[in-house]
Amino acid sequence: MKRAIVWFRNDLRVEDNEVLYRASKNFDEVLPVFVINKENLTKKEYDSGKLGQFRLQFLLESLKNLNDTLSKMGSGLLVKLGDPAAELLKIAKEEKVNAIYAHKEPAWEEKQEEERLSEGLDESIEIKYFWGKTLFHVNDLPFDYEKTPDVFSNFRKKNEKYGKVRPLFSKPEKLNWQQSIECEIPSIIDLGYDQFELPEHAAISFKGGEDEAKNRLNHYFYDTESLSKYKYTRNGLIGADYSSKFSPWLANGSISPRQIYYEVKKYEEEIKSNVSTYWLIFELIWRDFFTYVLLKYGNKLFYKGSIKGKRPKVNDPEGKKLKAWKNARTGIPFIDANMKELNETGFMSNRGRQNVASYLIKDLQVDWRKGAAYFEEKLIDYDVASNWGNWAYVAGIGNDPREGRYFNIMSQADRYDKKGEYVKLWLPELSQISPESIHTPWLADSEELRSFPDNSPFAKPIYISEKWKL
Ligand code: FAD
Repeated sequence: MKRAIVWFRNDLRVEDNEVLYRASKNFDEVLPVFVINKENLTKKEYDSGKLGQFRLQFLLESLKNLNDTLSKMGSGLLVKLGDPAAELLKIAKEEKVNAIYAHKEPAWEEKQEEERLSEGLDESIEIKYFWGKTLFHVNDLPFDYEKTPDVFSNFRKKNEKYGKVRPLFSKPEKLNWQQSIECEIPSIIDLGYDQFELPEHAAISFKGGEDEAKNRLNHYFYDTESLSKYKYTRNGLIGADYSSKFSPWLANGSISPRQIYYEVKKYEEEIKSNVSTYWLIFELIWRDFFTYVLLKYGNKLFYKGSIKGKRPKVNDPEGKKLKAWKNARTGIPFIDANMKELNETGFMSNRGRQNVASYLIKDLQVDWRKGAAYFEEKLIDYDVASNWGNWAYVAGIGNDPREGRYFNIMSQADRYDKKGEYVKLWLPELSQISPESIHTPWLADSEELRSFPDNSPFAKPIYISEKWKL
């Protein structure tokens, strides 16, 4: 009997999963394993945690769904809490497996896990990695990944012309593992976190798991046909359907970009093909781009000067500005509303992310890495490459070919939240402010200003840029 461990990482699905597919073909028995990295529950970087409550809850739901599916297929999911490499070594020994199969990850911390695993593993045990994160497979790029173009449009055009999207891997019909697998998934309370509830006005209530990913796709594509107008709604701020909201499922691999790609192709054949259907694929190529940028540059991406090596000016000696930004108390309604949404739900629109990042780096002059680390803790869809790549991009030290790009928060607020509806949704204390003053409440007439409590940041924001020309 030949047996293998399938080590699940950010690939929490049974469909289009090459690792599971190959292991089920090559071995008589397959033991699916996931290890919750215990260190990430308490570790801090730049004063932010590695894994916040929203993503943890989403992860636990994803694991539960995966276990249910795997159980129906004949095995189940063994869930451990600890150091992934150490736990896998223990299981490999106890279960006398012949191999460990897993997907490769692009970032340093996960690569360290891979190294520790190889070092501790008996030579007789084969360890095999596959690439499964991106739309375009690393071996199919029209250039060596080390030569990934630094400008997105060059990356995209080359891949659109010469790249190919591999076919999907089918779900194994049956899995076999002799013993029964006891799957014990802890709750977030067991793991030392507080239970939370989403506010009623949250854009969407994300539920983890491969089944929920499919439900969301069916909703966005077929039930509502929102895909047909995606290009014109994607900069929205309010509600569930202005954008796909696929990101949390993509981030932990409950759905693959290839699955979305082929579903878009089907939609284009059966329902509609237009610039919006193309644009979703365009955005998935951004996701690929940041992954390959991380592969190319490695840890340099995370340095203070990131890829370009130019350190942005920093001026926040006591950390007060960072604190106000994190706590949604800068006094700039458009910034604080977005940060409140992040703090209360784990999600923020792409437009919001660009604005709060730009305000922190370019206006408040806070170290961009502190903002990125805070997003890492809070975002339900945190993805190492997309997060740090986008932050470096906004900071002007990543892959933005344009020099000195600056988000004028007031013009952005005016353009994307003209009537202040988004601001009022998240900052009900501003509900009495007139539309003319909603983005600049400190300039409101004295009557309106008197309605604020004494310590309200909206009467005196921490920083107003001259560039806004108010
Ligand atoms: P849609 O607009 O529906 O896009 C579809 C998919 O395309 C997304 O799910 C995502 O996978 C991909 N995509 C879209 N825009 C981008 C982009 N700019 N970069 C990379 N991929 C993109 N995205 C993450 O998935 N994880 C992160 O940690 C993350 N951090 C970010 C930090 C900053 C400062 C900024 C500006 C952007 C960040 N993004 C991140 C990118 C983007 O904001 C989110 O992917 C998007 O808002 C998720 O919502 P959606 O799924 O509805 O997106």
